[in-house]
Amino acid sequence: SAGREGYIRKTKTVCTYCGVGCAFEVWTKDRHILKVEPGQGPANGISTCVKGKFGWDYVNSDERLTTPLIREGGRFREASWDEALDLIARRFTEIRGQHGPDALAFIASSKATNEEAFLVQKFARQVIGTNNVDNCSRYCQSPATQGLMRTVGYGGDSGTIHDIENAGLVITVGSNTAESHPVLATRVKRAHKLAGQKLVVVDIREHEMASRADVFLRPRPGTDFVWLSAISKYILDHGLEAREFLQGRVSGLDEFRRSIEGYTLEYAAEETGLAREDLEKLAHTIVEASGTCILWAMGVTQQCGGSDTSTAISNLLLVTGNYGRTGTGAYPLRGHNNVQGASDMGAMPDQTAGYRKVTDPLNVQTHEREWGVTLRPERGLDNTQMIDAAVAGRLKSLWLTGEEMGLTDADANHLVRGYEALEFFVVQDLYFTYTARFADVVLPASPALEKEGTFTSTERRIQRLYRAMEPLRGTRPDWQVYTAVAKRLGHDWGYTHPSEIMDEVARLAPIFAGVNYGRLEGFKSLVWPVDEGGTDTPLLYTERFNFPDGRARLFPAEYQPRQHAPNAEFDLHLNSGRMLEHFHEGNMTFKVAGIAEKVPDSFVELSPELAAERRVTSGQYVRLVSESGAVRLRALITGRVSGNEVYVPMNSARSENAVNHLTGQNRDPVTHTPAYKDTRVRLEVLPES
Ligand code: SF4
Repeated sequence: SAGREGYIRKTKTVCTYCGVGCAFEVWTKDRHILKVEPGQGPANGISTCVKGKFGWDYVNSDERLTTPLIREGGRFREASWDEALDLIARRFTEIRGQHGPDALAFIASSKATNEEAFLVQKFARQVIGTNNVDNCSRYCQSPATQGLMRTVGYGGDSGTIHDIENAGLVITVGSNTAESHPVLATRVKRAHKLAGQKLVVVDIREHEMASRADVFLRPRPGTDFVWLSAISKYILDHGLEAREFLQGRVSGLDEFRRSIEGYTLEYAAEETGLAREDLEKLAHTIVEASGTCILWAMGVTQQCGGSDTSTAISNLLLVTGNYGRTGTGAYPLRGHNNVQGASDMGAMPDQTAGYRKVTDPLNVQTHEREWGVTLRPERGLDNTQMIDAAVAGRLKSLWLTGEEMGLTDADANHLVRGYEALEFFVVQDLYFTYTARFADVVLPASPALEKEGTFTSTERRIQRLYRAMEPLRGTRPDWQVYTAVAKRLGHDWGYTHPSEIMDEVARLAPIFAGVNYGRLEGFKSLVWPVDEGGTDTPLLYTERFNFPDGRARLFPAEYQPRQHAPNAEFDLHLNSGRMLEHFHEGNMTFKVAGIAEKVPDSFVELSPELAAERRVTSGQYVRLVSESGAVRLRALITGRVSGNEVYVPMNSARSENAVNHLTGQNRDPVTHTPAYKDTRVRLEVLPES
């Protein structure tokens, strides 16, 4: 926690970027950030990556908002907090009165704290009376959560980074781990190099982990479901399954077997483009390994069949007995620092904190007791449905916290149509973002270094962050903003500190029963579920899966082939993803001078063969055109991509070049997560510049 050394203050905090959950002390003198010192973090020890170490100047950017803004006659004017909050309370009341509570919707931030995400859904459910609440995991990991809920019962990683280190075999699928989750990747690299861990990378792009792997497999885009199911079938057909484990702990084998009947290795080879022998070898590698962990990310989830492919991963782990021991399990790698937490806290349209259904009578009762209202029993709108409903005129108001949704959701032009159709749009952020341009009220927020709270990492690890500096004058932490509006609408929550919010979470959600700030003091952490006595669960499923009978369920999923394979007009497949230096849309990292200098803007990666065919040289501008829109980017010729694949990072210094002007409307049918990776484009060569 915070201490003093002369004028220098050392404060424990948790990284505000990716979901690995690195913790460290940040040294500050007033608002100056002197250095970041790792050492005691349970996930990272002495490690950080470039963003965690150097990526903090965004806090002092000149572009920080310091006063609320209200749109008037097409222009923004500065307003006092009271005026802005009064306006929000008045407009919400009017819209609810005119159109009912479901005309309003709320989106929590995966960069904000658990306590703040909890309050967003409390505001939606208790104050307004709607389940229209969600968070940005809708754009990334909802399909992974779905796959795990179907099969093993908890929507989180099965173990910790330590358990991944103990695996005999690590398979990554659709994860650029070295750039997206750098410190976690270093653990895998170390185990691979020093402890003889085998590494298999399955991806369409040859990123750093692929070049280090023992085996690198490059299937056709969107076909992972097929090879995963084929390997499960091969293992079952050859009697190589974990028989005792299946008999003792897993249900649904017969039905599962029938569901994958057609998935022979021959069919898989034909559909995925992988060699049959490679798949056969991989099946044996898995069976022979002391334990297998499968790590996956957006390459799996941002597809038409993201939920079903995530299910296929978990099915394969079950068939081979790879759950419940260290060195085994399913690891969907969470992108934001608190994307796990935002879902954990119930910022979802069908579940309250701790993944309890809004329809569960016991849950309804607990909330009635705590909040004095009855939960609405029907599912609300998720993020993508909110925009559709706005375009259709059914959704009138949206309160969006800490998310550059206009550039991170797919099909940016569709989003703009949604924003413009809203009657009242509130955006709360650090900066005047691209999305804020469309708002009616913009509220200036405070970043992690300016507030207290907790974040939950990809390991399900809950950690405290302490305030390193006062909120910048004119800004407020989100939890205080929600509390102030709730009060104006007749709900005096009375919180004086975020710890009281966490105490309420613990009362409402059994998996957080034993979580409190005392147990999270300093560098202490808890990995949920946490029982009342404070015992946490770093490794799940050692005895039971999270279903009433304690047994896992093999789930018969279905292959959803991609819908936008390249054609004559749009002849290239577009892939998108992260890069090491920048984070997501780039609002924070492009404001860090050192990082922005090194990587000043986005680009498009072209394979040497495509570049030669189109006569493009590195550095030259090209235009990419899809069914949804167009962007202009510099070409980078690299062997990381092959053939007619092109790759554009999701981080862009200029909004007009954001890759999501190109992505479209096709979605995973179960979670409505956009199929970002199922996009086709054509390339137009622009004159030399
Ligand atoms: Fe932050 Fe992730 Fe880097 Fe750790 S690996 S320092 S959590 S961005």
